[in-house]
Amino acid sequence: MQKNTKLLQLKDLLDDPSHPTSMPIYQSATFAQMDIDNLGKYDYSRSGNPNRDIVESKLAALEDAKHAFLFNSGIVAIHVVFELLSADDHIIVADDLYGGTHRLLGLLQQKNIFISYVDTSDATNIINTITAKTKMLLVETPSNPLQKIVNLSEISEICKKHNLLLAMDNSLLSPWWQQPLKFGVDIVVHSATKHLSGHSDTTAGVICTNNDEIATKIKFLQNALGVALAPFDCWLLYRGLKTLPLRAKAAQDNTLKIVEYLKTESIIKHIYYCGIKSHPGFAIHKSQSDGFGSVLSIDTGNTLLSKKIVNLSNLFAITVSFGSVNSFISIPVNMSHASVPKDKLIVPPSLIRLSIGIEDADDLIDDLKQAIKIALIN
Ligand SMILES: *Cc1c(COP(=O)(O)O)cnc(C)c1O
Repeated sequence: MQKNTKLLQLKDLLDDPSHPTSMPIYQSATFAQMDIDNLGKYDYSRSGNPNRDIVESKLAALEDAKHAFLFNSGIVAIHVVFELLSADDHIIVADDLYGGTHRLLGLLQQKNIFISYVDTSDATNIINTITAKTKMLLVETPSNPLQKIVNLSEISEICKKHNLLLAMDNSLLSPWWQQPLKFGVDIVVHSATKHLSGHSDTTAGVICTNNDEIATKIKFLQNALGVALAPFDCWLLYRGLKTLPLRAKAAQDNTLKIVEYLKTESIIKHIYYCGIKSHPGFAIHKSQSDGFGSVLSIDTGNTLLSKKIVNLSNLFAITVSFGSVNSFISIPVNMSHASVPKDKLIVPPSLIRLSIGIEDADDLIDDLKQAIKIALIN
């Protein structure tokens, strides 16, 4: 069965005596037991809830994972992955991770966990940083917002050889375009707030793994910390998830058209998008993904000019986040990456990030055209 069919089939709902064709919301904190000796599947929603089980099974199907666990945000999912580390451990992370992950790494440092920030698009940097205490490697590919590409098969070999857990944040592409577990990644995390939910109406996070031992620890933490996704948010997430295949295709088609237009604007000095053939990681990316996604960055090299373009766009909301049906525009250094310490910041302040939605591509292009034109004369 293909991913889209698995996503939409209703078998999970057949346990419900009313046979609904849309997932009902089990908005209950507690579940009654029929008999004190034979306890049922559910007792308390922190530990387990039918909505969470159903949506977790859909996400596992999408990632082709054995296990999936839902959390109330992407950042909490990443926090739970970090809980697998102990004091004195060492973790290697990509130097251009999501800004909120950087903030979380600051907390890890306070717990005496040692962190190395390296350019993970070059595997030799990883090899040169591994010590006897290294326990985990965390990467993003394509990275956000610079779209650096990590060779997953190559780094998973390195991790296996040195007994490291390989964790990857797959938020930027979603499992529709990329399934990192197939390339030897041990743990995949997503901010489900982005493409998976797709409508900017809830925050959510997911961890996927094929490793039973890791799954047991994650399941324990989900209950022990009380950070699982609530029933209504599970419902919203599944409502959005059902159209992920359609949204992902429409947004990527728009993005490819917009990139073609942006190539004709001489004021754009660089386009960061893994779908451009001249991208240094294009071949590696194509070998491990089925698509390029709908997020790209552009640089004018002039911060004032970039800010003017952002302010002059009408159809793009100036907002953090990406992966919505609506198009967004932002300056990462001022917004999503504001929490990255100055000495760790490798994103240029003039960089504009675009997240393309499912509006009409020509309308979006016309809007960028007018913003660039007016920015240049003012
Ligand atoms: C947004 C984001 C996160 C954090 O997820 P939240 O749902 O906002 O908590 C983590 N990683 C990446 C790549 C993101 O874009």
